[in-house]
Amino acid sequence: MARILIHACCAHCLAKLLTGLKAEPSAGTPVVYWYNPNIHPLLEYRRRLKSVKMLVERAQLPFLADESYGLVDFCRAVHGQESVPERCAQCYALRLGRTAQVAREQGFPVFTSTLVTSRHQDHALIRAAGEAAARIAGVEFLYRDWRDAAPDAQLVHMLYHQQYCGCIFSESDRFQSTSAHLWPPADPGRT
Ligand code: SF4
Repeated sequence: MARILIHACCAHCLAKLLTGLKAEPSAGTPVVYWYNPNIHPLLEYRRRLKSVKMLVERAQLPFLADESYGLVDFCRAVHGQESVPERCAQCYALRLGRTAQVAREQGFPVFTSTLVTSRHQDHALIRAAGEAAARIAGVEFLYRDWRDAAPDAQLVHMLYHQQYCGCIFSESDRFQSTSAHLWPPADPGRT
């Protein structure tokens, strides 16, 4: 059977995607690919990579990875377009463009991404970026709306679950209104 290259950005979305693929076995045998220069800072990058590796091991799937921390590549890609949705369009193009190239180089006819499982992502932009990357590389991008797919609880048991999308901008967007909780006023009764 043909293989499908799965761009994976985190373990929980990967588990959802695997559920979706199970219902569509003709899509191909999954091989997982890690390339996420959009995840910052470095320790967060390592946490998400580790959790993807653990899931891949549990699911006994083949795994390809570019584990270089691509902070500079990401910053160059979004420079001058730091607002949403422009930066996300550049981010999708960067990641899916590389995935499409790897698919072509490694003989995969089709690729997809765990991005299609997320309720927080812009699906129209993901689809456009995936299809554009596929055209350039001469492969196919499989888009499915798998936002409602349920992850296999055993696959994701105790695996790290991130609190923001990935880039340092999204971390700021996620937490900037929470400063009151992060830094409560000092207790006047204590020294
Ligand atoms: S918010 Fe998420 S999709 Fe958008 S640029 Fe940041 S990491 Fe990429």
